[in-house]
Amino acid sequence: MNAKNTKPFSCRPAGPDPKNAAKKLICRQEMTKEDFTELLRAYENQEVRKWLREEALRLRKKYYGNQVFTRGLIEFTNYCKNNCYYCGIRGANQKAVRYRLSQEEILACCQEGYKLGFRTFVLQGGEDPFYTDERMAAIVREIKDSYPDCALTLSIGEKPRESYQLFREAGADRYLLRHETANEIHYRQLHPANMSLENRTRCLNDLKSLGYQVGAGMMVGSPGQTLQCLAEDLLFLQKLQPQMVGIGPFIPHHDTCFAREPAGSVELTLYLLSLVRILLPWVLLPATTALGTLDPFGREKGLLAGANVVMPNLSPPKNRKQYELYDHKICTGEEAAECRSSLERRVTAAGFTLVSGRGDARHP
Ligand code: SAH
Repeated sequence: MNAKNTKPFSCRPAGPDPKNAAKKLICRQEMTKEDFTELLRAYENQEVRKWLREEALRLRKKYYGNQVFTRGLIEFTNYCKNNCYYCGIRGANQKAVRYRLSQEEILACCQEGYKLGFRTFVLQGGEDPFYTDERMAAIVREIKDSYPDCALTLSIGEKPRESYQLFREAGADRYLLRHETANEIHYRQLHPANMSLENRTRCLNDLKSLGYQVGAGMMVGSPGQTLQCLAEDLLFLQKLQPQMVGIGPFIPHHDTCFAREPAGSVELTLYLLSLVRILLPWVLLPATTALGTLDPFGREKGLLAGANVVMPNLSPPKNRKQYELYDHKICTGEEAAECRSSLERRVTAAGFTLVSGRGDARHP
């Protein structure tokens, strides 16, 4: 890519060429499942990979400059009524040491985060029935009353539309609910029978129609995932047009059925980050903790592949290890919100600028 931003090819109609799918994506044409499959196969093609990465970085710069947004992640409960097979805090894991934070403790995390410069708080947890809709709405209201200049993101799983509406009215701005996989058969391999892709999709559509900034996403390399599944994930994202997309490698947890499964690939995750940046140029795309867990430079590599968000851990330090979604989850050093200055150094060294502020999506 040269400075004038000319593309390395012309946007003429596609002929029989392995690079066609990449051209279509870069030219912002509507993609089919076959296009996405071809694009994923092009992962092996170094030349195509280079184009896509450069285009992702160009778009990231066009929409967000060198800015990297931060979110303070508050993991406020690891109780969960669900049993997602990949997840370390699933309800059936009797070995998990459970905790939940009180409203006061959650507010104390926000206070600490605000002092550190965070202007978005993400409340994430298992699906914990202790936090009734009323309790949750009260927490949302108190955070938004105390910090009106901050955005509040919820990530507390599948709820009826009415609950989402209540939280929205209480002041919640964003909602993260990864779809996990857009392929029905694969969804069944990852979740017990009482969960469904249909309900997950219903939730995402409800959240969107209620005016949330919505985040979907998937793990890369989860057991049973094929190239076709990933192609369907990209098709799903193209249709949903979410404001945020969370993509991280699958990492096994020792107390789950997938304990012996291999972790996902860092390189393939980076490739997908670039594809999603091009597909949804204005998207908020985190360099995830899972990426940083598998690779000591995962965060930096994520930013250089097109990511523009980092989410350091703002949970009480004593609980961080207990929110164990997968083995060896990092939660100290640059992962820890209190080490913001060292995170800032690393982000700067990678050529970006860590900014304070809500960091909303810039729409086209
Ligand atoms: N209960 C909430 C939050 C789930 S935890 C919800 O349902 O949305 C947040 C994300 O962590 C999940 O969406 C999943 O994609 C990811 N995750 C869970 N287990 C994982 C594992 N073993 N490896 C990598 N990511 C995992």
